[in-house]
Amino acid sequence: MSVKKKQFDYIICGGGAAGLLLLQALREDSFFAEKQILLIEKETKNSDDRTWCFWEAAEGKFDVLLTKKWQQAIFAGSQSKIAFNLHPFQYKMLRSGAFYHHYFPENSPEQNFHFLQAEIKTLETKATFTEVYTDQGVFSANHVFSSLFDPELLKNQFKYPVLQQHFIGWFIQAPEGSFNPEEIIFMDFDIPQKNETRFLYVLPLSDQKALVEYTLFSKELLTKEEYENGIRAYLLKINITDYTIEEKEQGTIPMSCYPFQSANRSSLLHIGTAGGWTKASTGFTFKKTQREIRRLISFLKTGQPLNAFQIKNRFWFYDLLFLDVLEKYNHKGSELFSRMFDKNPPVRIFRFLDEKTTFGEELLVLSSFSIKQIGWFLAAFFKRIF
Ligand SMILES: Cc1cc2nc3c(=O)[nH]c(=O)nc-3n(C[C@H](O)[C@H](O)[C@H](O)COP(=O)(O)OP(=O)(O)OC[C@H]3O[C@@H](n4cnc5c(N)ncnc54)[C@H](O)[C@@H]3O)c2cc1C
Repeated sequence: MSVKKKQFDYIICGGGAAGLLLLQALREDSFFAEKQILLIEKETKNSDDRTWCFWEAAEGKFDVLLTKKWQQAIFAGSQSKIAFNLHPFQYKMLRSGAFYHHYFPENSPEQNFHFLQAEIKTLETKATFTEVYTDQGVFSANHVFSSLFDPELLKNQFKYPVLQQHFIGWFIQAPEGSFNPEEIIFMDFDIPQKNETRFLYVLPLSDQKALVEYTLFSKELLTKEEYENGIRAYLLKINITDYTIEEKEQGTIPMSCYPFQSANRSSLLHIGTAGGWTKASTGFTFKKTQREIRRLISFLKTGQPLNAFQIKNRFWFYDLLFLDVLEKYNHKGSELFSRMFDKNPPVRIFRFLDEKTTFGEELLVLSSFSIKQIGWFLAAFFKRIF
């Protein structure tokens, strides 16, 4: 598809989760009805290239697209196992194929909306606008939103720890009764930690089918064999020996408090993972992206330059301390998470991760750690302050 126009009010670079959610929010709000909008994406987005999970209270706008949702969960440490009800939340699974199919606007009837399938080569910011250089020409706008993530930014700095949430997952088909379809295993740390933070994540779609992911929060990626041997060993441990692998999924999500917003300009805003919209302490991005887009839509109506859009708050600082500790004591991650789930009602943890808790509740979360662990956080705090 070619686009004749060269200048737009808004250009969205990348039609993944953040780009498509932003586009949809612009289309749904009459304030933007007269704005000329261009989405540029290099790929044909139609596959299940990722599975997004998130928790949400009550009904949500993606409910019609969900593969499954759950109300029950298990957290397992090496010493204890906690089964809990997620109420008022439900844990929801959305596969990207359904999402792209619904939100990808290739044949949009709106006159003000344009789509270009092209590879973006570079972005150049001028005084009042940003130019987007693609393999199909140059386009400009005074509001450019980019979800193109540059991992080099994280490699070229040492001030902020950079961990990864990295995993391989298998969708497996096993004999009847292999899984409880009503209950997810949110984190199972009862596996060899190998001096890192390693856990299994199991999302059962039926009593025969589940997504089983071997996941780490750590610095270095593993070989494919190491993740897959981890899944095999786990399935053996839970007595599932007869299964077929139907699909595989692999991912690496950056966990860092690096100030991604420093690359923003008055006419350029980074969004999604590229904008630091990943929750640094967990890697969850999908829900936070929805929240940031709601804020961004209100912000755009103020007419302020894009680099005035702030993403830092006190939760950013908590995440920073948590990553400082998790980087230094990566082999103790299992103990940290176990303590948090042992000592807090799960709803408090999920609200804390949603950045919705009060300062008093945050002190309760902190006080759930052992004296030794609190000492690690205090040391990280003083190191950051002084
Ligand atoms: C396998 C996997 C599973 C995940 N699961 C979860 C989960 O369960 N929950 C959760 O909260 N988060 C999850 N995440 C993290 C996060 O939600 C996703 O990575 C999410 O897709 C990030 O959205 P984004 O828009 O920032 O990036 P993307 O969705 O990756 O979108 C970026 C887009 O830019 C396009 N692009 C890149 N370069 C160019 C270029 N040069 N020219 C044109 N287009 C370009 C890409 O093709 C892509 O479509 C997962 C990530 C992965 C990889």
